[in-house]
Amino acid sequence: MILLPEIETKRLAIKLKPAAERSVKKQHPWIFDQAIIKQSSDPQTGDVAIIYDNKKNKFLACGLFDASSPIRIKLLQFHNPATINRDWFIEKINTAYQLRLPLFATDTNSYRLIYGESDGFPGLIADVYGEVLVIKLYSGIWFPYLKDIFPQLIEVSQAETCVLRLSRKMQRENELYNLHDGQVVHGHLEHETVIFKEHGIRFSANVIHGHKTGYFLDHRHNRKKIGELAKNKTVLDVFSYAGGFSVHALTGGAKTVTSLDISKQALEMATENATLNAHNGKHHIIVADAFEALNKLIHQSKQYDIVVIDPPSFAKRASEVDKAKHSYMRLARLGAQLVRLSGILVLASCSSRVSADDFFEISQNALTDSAYSFEMMEKTFHDIDHPIGFPEAAYLKCGYWKKV
Ligand code: SAH
Repeated sequence: MILLPEIETKRLAIKLKPAAERSVKKQHPWIFDQAIIKQSSDPQTGDVAIIYDNKKNKFLACGLFDASSPIRIKLLQFHNPATINRDWFIEKINTAYQLRLPLFATDTNSYRLIYGESDGFPGLIADVYGEVLVIKLYSGIWFPYLKDIFPQLIEVSQAETCVLRLSRKMQRENELYNLHDGQVVHGHLEHETVIFKEHGIRFSANVIHGHKTGYFLDHRHNRKKIGELAKNKTVLDVFSYAGGFSVHALTGGAKTVTSLDISKQALEMATENATLNAHNGKHHIIVADAFEALNKLIHQSKQYDIVVIDPPSFAKRASEVDKAKHSYMRLARLGAQLVRLSGILVLASCSSRVSADDFFEISQNALTDSAYSFEMMEKTFHDIDHPIGFPEAAYLKCGYWKKV
């Protein structure tokens, strides 16, 4: 392991506006900058912020101070005072690991070990791909504590290699203590591309340059389902990225699978991932904007037995929510035309700003208004390694409809 930074931290006393106090009492982990009415002097990112209530000066919660984020304090501990130290982190990591145990009985060695706030680590993600652990930081609050956290993450995951990833925002803004995005902080990384298993299917992820930590683990259960439905079917995987759905479908016995993505690089990964598994199906790729390409396929009267549409988050900002909803409606309409009679349309959303209820309603309305008839088969949400500890953590929803 490389030498991780030694950074002194202080404890800060904090008082909040009443609405924020109420939110803390409900154990919401975020405190925004405007909510703070009193804070002791010269706070630094990573300092321990202790929230006291206004009336009785009683301990409410404690967390970490983030000078460079509007979410100024990320809370870790509620109600009962605790010392935030190595033991505290070890306990949280062990609890998180226990929660994931059922996955290991499914021929899967890739999982999210730590999902940010929901596992007690706001702004920290730890994904495991076989023997490689990838830790991604979204906030500088963690720098003083890396030396307490990394060894335990490596121990429980039994990783031989650990890669550090830093969010783009962090790379631009923060003091990085000589650490950098893509740094191997423990062990040795033979190839940027790491091979791992998801429900018995082999995949590869580029842990240095891939999106997020290299792959999207959140849809594991949906991909398995598509694999099971795909025998002798034709499948269109829209926004395929590295081919998560495509490869499960091929391995499940699909006749043909078409992966569509705007990124040529993503489709190269999808092609490579398909070759890692034995199958007899044909794999086609389309490098294009999804909206344009789907219209073109409709124009050519193309239809598929299964159409999966899993776009990127359309609402990264609150101001984009209406546009995102409109895009979901357009995709449902396009998908409706591309599914064959008796076929299955799968629509997913990973925008946390669009609620599951809204997403399902928009999709259902678009399908009801189409010239076809659809029956809702199933709704699915997060797999078990993406637990939902507070409302904003719930981002993934996925609906299955049958064209009847
Ligand atoms: N379904 C994937 C994850 C999708 S991530 C899985 O199961 O792993 C979103 C993908 O959408 C990215 O690969 C990105 O390149 C692609 N993308 C973004 N905008 C696009 C557009 N306008 N048209 C097609 N693909 C797009």
